[in-house]
Amino acid sequence: MAQAISELGEFGLIRHLTRNIRTVQPSTVKGIGDDAAILRYGDATLAVTTDTLTEGIHFDLTYTPMQHLGYKAAVVAFSDLYAMNVTPRQLLVSIAVSAKFSVESLELLYQGLQHACEHYGADLAGGDTSPSLTGFCINVTAIGDVAPDRITYRHTAQQGDLLCVSGDLGAAYMGLQVLDREKKIFEESKGIQPQLEGYEYVVGRQLKPEARKDIVEWLTSADIKPTAMIDLSDGLASGVLQLCSASKTGCEIHHHKIPIADETIKTAEEFYMEPLVAALNGGDDYELLFTVPVAAVEKLDGHKEISILGYLTEPEKGCFLVPQNGDKIEIKGMNV
Ligand code: ADP
Ligand code: MG
Repeated sequence: MAQAISELGEFGLIRHLTRNIRTVQPSTVKGIGDDAAILRYGDATLAVTTDTLTEGIHFDLTYTPMQHLGYKAAVVAFSDLYAMNVTPRQLLVSIAVSAKFSVESLELLYQGLQHACEHYGADLAGGDTSPSLTGFCINVTAIGDVAPDRITYRHTAQQGDLLCVSGDLGAAYMGLQVLDREKKIFEESKGIQPQLEGYEYVVGRQLKPEARKDIVEWLTSADIKPTAMIDLSDGLASGVLQLCSASKTGCEIHHHKIPIADETIKTAEEFYMEPLVAALNGGDDYELLFTVPVAAVEKLDGHKEISILGYLTEPEKGCFLVPQNGDKIEIKGMNV
């Protein structure tokens, strides 16, 4: 009998489909398994990453302006490059469009894409356009370059390293809850306008995220090279498990060190949700999770947007959340 995809989950499926793939080209420095593929041509080291956003899965067009969708699609791809310490240079954009879209709406999408390219300094260098019978789909491929000794992989963290994260977590997920709630109220009441006042931060984090170019640049200027790095697209738990599993380590994370914005806490409480659950399992934060040697601690203390969450342990110990009072809780993610 045919096996259901849901039995494997997303990461299990990727592992299953790619289990026999071996690279043979000397130019393929790193293939599957990190935020981007690393390629070396002569003196140039390039990184390439691709992401697909699908209507109804990754975005809802009833509350996602097309400019924001374009901007976010580019950011999602740039974020994967920054996670490897790579500077974005080019972006390729492919869209599948149904007849319900107007030319004007696609112009707005391209305004967003161009805006993101200008902001992150990349050229929109190509793509593809295809019809779609049903939903809208956008795929972005970002290309960049990096000095070979500056690449930050997922698999190179060491036991004892400090585990750090940029910004704050869980806001984009709570923004999504607010947008979904307001959409339902609007549909059921036939016209009550969405109330987004007081939710600007969380909604903004969902609709118009940024990639942490500033953090990568600051780390370089402070002469800190992370021993490993990954971007958080599917929540802290998933990122931690992927980084630790790639680096063959365990970890301990202090519960009270996980950065969560006040508006995220307030919104979570309104939804009778634990803010920590939004931070651990909510997606779309696009913050950077990285590890540094303990010696970097003093330099990091100087940056208010970097939190030291904990440290890496022996792999046998597993990945744990340590509350201020009470027993450690094992971090379990989806099929990592
Ligand atoms: P990210 O969330 O950073 O975009 P993913 O979790 O989507 O990364 O992918 C993890 C790794 O698996 C990446 O190296 C990616 O290139 C690879 N990958 C994902 N899907 C496929 C696929 N369908 N075929 C081959 N490789 C894939
Ligand atoms: Mg990534």
